[in-house]
Order: sequence, then structure tokens, then C-alpha cells
Amino acid sequence: MMQNKISAESIYIHVPFCETKCSYCDFASWAKKEHLIDKYFDALIFEIKTKCSAYFACSEPGLATMIKTIFIGGGTPSLISPEYYEKLFGELKKHFTFDNNCEITMELNPGTAKDDYLEGYKKLGINRISIGVQSFSEKILKTFGRKHSVIDTVEAIEKVKKAGIKNFNLDFIYAAPGITKEIWGDSVYRALEFEPKHISAYSLIIEPNTLFEKIYKNQELLPSDDFAYDLYFDLCSILKENDFVHYEISNFAIPGYESKHNINYWQAKEFFAFGAGAHRYLNKLRTNNIRDLETYISCPNLENIIDFQTSEKFEKIMLNSRLNAGFELDLIKEVTTKSHKDITKLLNDLSNEGYLELLNNKIYLTDKGLFVNNEILLKLI
Ligand code: SF4
Repeated sequence: MMQNKISAESIYIHVPFCETKCSYCDFASWAKKEHLIDKYFDALIFEIKTKCSAYFACSEPGLATMIKTIFIGGGTPSLISPEYYEKLFGELKKHFTFDNNCEITMELNPGTAKDDYLEGYKKLGINRISIGVQSFSEKILKTFGRKHSVIDTVEAIEKVKKAGIKNFNLDFIYAAPGITKEIWGDSVYRALEFEPKHISAYSLIIEPNTLFEKIYKNQELLPSDDFAYDLYFDLCSILKENDFVHYEISNFAIPGYESKHNINYWQAKEFFAFGAGAHRYLNKLRTNNIRDLETYISCPNLENIIDFQTSEKFEKIMLNSRLNAGFELDLIKEVTTKSHKDITKLLNDLSNEGYLELLNNKIYLTDKGLFVNNEILLKLI
């Protein structure tokens, strides 16, 4: 009997349009390209149609892949009206079956939230919104080059709630230039007032070819690692006191509201992906699409194979170590160049220093350990 061999249960859709380009951003996103929205969605639908025909060419008729999570990221997907997503979902449903409890997330930037759009998204089945708050300080928002204000954020959250979408994430960047413990604490407490189900907070990374790279060549203008850790630790403490589970390095949720889509990713599970620069993992192969917007529109099916320098096992450890669910000690033993005796001593030392706990042959990183998970893995491997 023919079988559908692709095991992926998640889909990522990339929508690369933004109102302006933020100073730190190196995502595949463009401002002032709204005239290409129609063509982009045509390309996206063409990509889904042709790639799915190829993926499922040998599948038994009717054996559609069951999809449990969809993530529409960007860019600013909330700039786009629901009619475009209606067509997109129409195409997806020709190739996939959506699970009844499918988690469908859309990223939304404050300043772009519209009541009628949100109602339309909800009707289409979008049941989780991730709001790019970044900070509740006007000063920090200006530093980031964000277009939105704090008032825009408050209005966006209220509109999401009014649309009846209770499952929403507030997304932050900490360790920003000019941040203080007071500003950061205020942002976190302000966030809690809106009763979000999920909070994400990422450290600022200075990426190549961004405005921030030019401005902050001098690292002294940025918060030190020790100060960043203080901010991170404050975040962990405040959110734990308020019933959030710290389930991944940068992610916290009220129990039951962890992002299923991102957990699949950190568990190194396979996923489909469509759109400019989108990166997928199928049949043990990671590939990505052409990132340039115009080139993607002309050739939406072009893909590059991502040349990973690491083994599949090492990659699994790197991703799994981000989660509070722990990772297998046996996997470390399989990839490490160190002796078992050295590994045992290292683990004991790291445990005594409060970086990890070892339980039933699994390694669980503490908050302190999660903050430096890469350094810990380098020591162990
Ligand atoms: S809104 Fe997001 S994707 Fe767009 S430029 Fe800013 S950080 Fe990048």
C-alpha cells in the first residue's frame, strides 16, 4: 500500500512586508513593497500547489497529511487583509487536513491591528496572536527604530481581546541599549496587567548588515553579559511568581498555552514552510527558499540545501537543550569526544554550580544554565 511518507505536522508561512525596517532587524522583510503583495500571494499559492503535488505524488489518494500547527510569521503578517489568507488557506486545505485543535498563530505588530482584520483572521481559524511589543518604554522603542508607540501596543492588545482571541503572546527584547532594571521591570509588570497567556523575551543580537551593526560596533555601548543575565533573571523570577512556566530559554507560558508550533521545532521535528526565505525540514533535509523578494516572486520553487556542519544528533541536542523538558544524557555520550569519567565529573561540577540537574538519565538546565546553554553544550561535547 502506498503511504504518505512525510511525517511533518506543522507549516510555517512567511509574509515579508513591513511598514518600516527596524534598526536591528535582519529578517527577510521589506518596507515600501506593498505594491508586490498581490504578486507575492500568487507566488506563495503557486509554491504550495507545486511543492505539495511533488511531496504527495506517491501518496495514497485521500491520505492527506494532518496538520496540527501553522505559524504565519514575518515581516508583519497583520498588514495583510484576511482575503489574502482566505485564498492561502483554501490552497493549503487542498493538500492538508487541519486537525480540529490546530494551533494557528499569526504575528501582529502594534499599529497595524484593525478590528475588521482581526475578526476576519478569527473566522479563518487563526486562534493565537503573537504581538511584537518589544518594550513598554517609548525611549527603547525609539532606539529600536520601531514605528509603533506604547499607546499603539495597548490598543492592539485590546483589539485582539475584543476579537475574542484569548491566546496571545507578548514578544519582548531585553538587554537593549539604554535599558535599566527599572525600565525592564516596568515592561514586564505592564505586560502582566493584560493577562497574556504567553510571554517571549529575546536578548538583543547585533546582526550583520543592520543599522545596529554600524551604531553599536563599540560593544561598550551595549549592556554587559552580567547585566543581561540580571535582566533575564528578573524576568524569570517575576513570571514564575505569576504562574508562568519557563518552558524554553526565551519563552514562558501559563500551563497549557505553550507554543505547540515552536515546541515541535525545538524537538527537532520536521515541518513544511512556504514563502520568501522560508526554511523547512523535511525527509531529514533542511532547505530554504530564495530570500530576495523579487526573485522569490519570479521563482517561488527555488531552494537551497542548508549545509549543516553538525550531525543530526548534535542538532537535536542543541534544540532539545533549549527546553525545560530536558535532554537525554545518552545523546551526549554518543556525540562527545570526552570519556564517560570526564563527562560524569563535568556534570557533577555543573550541577554543584547550579547550571543543571540530572534526573533519570536526563539533563535539565536551570534558569542559570539556560542563559548559557551553548557554553554548557560546548563543555560537554
Ligand atoms: S517589524 Fe519585525 S520583521 Fe519588520 S522590520 Fe521590524 S523587526 Fe523586522
